[in-house]
Amino acid sequence: MAEDLDRSLSLLRATLDSTTDGILVVDLHGKVESFNRRFIEMWRIPLSLAESGEDRRLLDYVMDQLADPRGFMARVRELYAHPEASSRDVIEFKDGRIFERNSLPQRLHGKVIGRVWTFHDVTDYRRTQDALEQLARRNESILESVGEGIYGLDASGRITFVNRAAARMIGRDVEELVGAPMHDRIHYARADGTPYPREECPIMAVLRDGVAHHVEEEVFWRRDGTSFPVAYVSTPWSAPDGSRGAVVAFRDITERKRTEEERSRLLAREREARAAADAAARRLSFLAEAGRVLSSSLDYEATLASAARLAVPVLADWCLVDVVEGGRIRRVASVHVDPERNELLRDLERRYPPDWSSPQPCVQAMRTGKPMLFPTVTADVLRRTTQDAGHRRVMERLAPRSAMAVPIIAREQVLGAMTFGTARERYGREDLAYAEGLASRAGIAIDNARLYEAALAANQAKSNFLAVMSHELRTPLSAIAGYVDLLREEISGPLNEQQHEQLERIRANAWRQLRTIEEILIFSRMETGREVVTPSRTDLTALIHGVADIIAPLAREKGLAFQVHAPPGPLFVRTDAGKVRHMLFNLLSNAVKFTERGRIELDAALENGRMVFRVKDTGIGIAREDQERIFEPFAQVEDTLTREKGGTGLGLAVARRLARLLGGDITVASAPGEGSTFAAWVPGRRVEE
Ligand code: ADP
Repeated sequence: MAEDLDRSLSLLRATLDSTTDGILVVDLHGKVESFNRRFIEMWRIPLSLAESGEDRRLLDYVMDQLADPRGFMARVRELYAHPEASSRDVIEFKDGRIFERNSLPQRLHGKVIGRVWTFHDVTDYRRTQDALEQLARRNESILESVGEGIYGLDASGRITFVNRAAARMIGRDVEELVGAPMHDRIHYARADGTPYPREECPIMAVLRDGVAHHVEEEVFWRRDGTSFPVAYVSTPWSAPDGSRGAVVAFRDITERKRTEEERSRLLAREREARAAADAAARRLSFLAEAGRVLSSSLDYEATLASAARLAVPVLADWCLVDVVEGGRIRRVASVHVDPERNELLRDLERRYPPDWSSPQPCVQAMRTGKPMLFPTVTADVLRRTTQDAGHRRVMERLAPRSAMAVPIIAREQVLGAMTFGTARERYGREDLAYAEGLASRAGIAIDNARLYEAALAANQAKSNFLAVMSHELRTPLSAIAGYVDLLREEISGPLNEQQHEQLERIRANAWRQLRTIEEILIFSRMETGREVVTPSRTDLTALIHGVADIIAPLAREKGLAFQVHAPPGPLFVRTDAGKVRHMLFNLLSNAVKFTERGRIELDAALENGRMVFRVKDTGIGIAREDQERIFEPFAQVEDTLTREKGGTGLGLAVARRLARLLGGDITVASAPGEGSTFAAWVPGRRVEE
């Protein structure tokens, strides 16, 4: 029995000594009954003092180490006042050590007989704890200070922490979030709002795969059911102890999206404006091109066809051009963007030629002189604008989505119409204005061509008239001249002086008249292209002196000096001698006619393959503004001085036409009151005898 007790006491002793806690046992009056070795070590009590049994000194020694001895004593006293009570608290030492202290009543047979104090050194533990707390606090403040929403997830997808920014954005309390499974609290979806199937959630995939995920735009829902666009990064983490999770940092991109949208709206508007400007420029250049094409030729049928081709495809898929000729409508052009479908247009023209009773838009436009716009070609429009079912079928195959017809008008007269059809767009006012621009240019082209044709015809009629009349005048005049010659030669009997003089007058006038008629005849022959060049070998010197011989007496009669400078002859050239002579005669007789005093000179030379003539006078001269006009047929300087000289106004016109017919020309240099110089040249080079 005693041995058993010894055994158990020894076991107790060993147990007490082997614990890491310091243990002290006192009786109900505070007297020390027992302590273990660890107690002495922890409290750094010298062994002698511990074993001295002087409790008072021991207590003083202990108290001296404490940071708050008074507080400690107060708690101890309270415990002695309540022997049944147990307590647990922390004691802090002056040197920073921290003990956890437990105090339990000691009982024997249910009765309290003392108290057991145990002390556990938690200094290291508390320090680590503090450091960790500090670290956590710092991390927290970092998390709170960033503008982004941040939350962490553990491997099962439970929210382990969340910053206030995240909670605010999601519209929940931090407490509500931490510890809850993410999918219960944070709802998100693709940018267009379609939710992810559970297994495809990208944030869950980060937990599963351990690969970071980055999203430019998705949607998060708030608790109240509203949503906002976010960009986020979801990063996996793993701790050294093997635990894993993820951190999600997200940002509300409403503002960014707004500015982006605003920017793309601006860009779109700018693109639109640029496209409109481009279209306008294209249209302008198209109209300019159309104007150029239409005015490039007087063959209006060909130019209208090219205008129609120009309209396709810029303005239409197909284009028809009709003109009114002699009160009837004739289609002059039809063009389709698809060459294979031209056959449809041919078919239309053959089977349904437009006439005044047809309901076709082109006819209506011509009848009213007003454009017609069909923004949408409905079945009803087709019914109203076609003659019969067959006509409608052809139109249905052409399938215009939109169509328009504009009249071609010039000088307030409807000359025709252009019809446009397209399957690509809806024509509007702008397209109509554009079509009208094209039609008005076509109108000018047709009008010009018709005017030109009329002018050509009138000119032809005039030349014919002149030729006929001249012939009718010349024949009797030649007869008159012939009989005058007979009389002058006194074949039918002698004449007195006076009769001779009178006959001379008749002869001179008849001769003048003949020359005028010759002039008109040659002019009309040249106008109608009937005058031909007949070159022959000619002695130029002889030709010049021949003309001079006729002019010299006329100059002498007016008291004018007349000088001729010609190369020494014979000088053979190949030319139409009659025409060169005629030309020189006209220039020289004008010089005599328009010069009252002074002299007349004729210079002739052969230079650089040309015969060059200069007819110079000291006459009345010609004002600058008249110098070109006088070469026009029937043109004379408006001036009584000139008028009283007589003449038809054909001399210079004929002379220049002769020169040009031979391949040369005539020019004039003159100053009023000082005289004139007419320079004429025609091709000609010396030929051997
Ligand atoms: P016409 O002499 O029959 O009037 P022309 O064609 O020969 O016709 O001449 C046209 C006009 O040119 C004349 O009417 C005259 O006004 C002017 N003219 C021609 N030659 C001369 C000249 N040498 N000096 C001054 N005026 C001239």
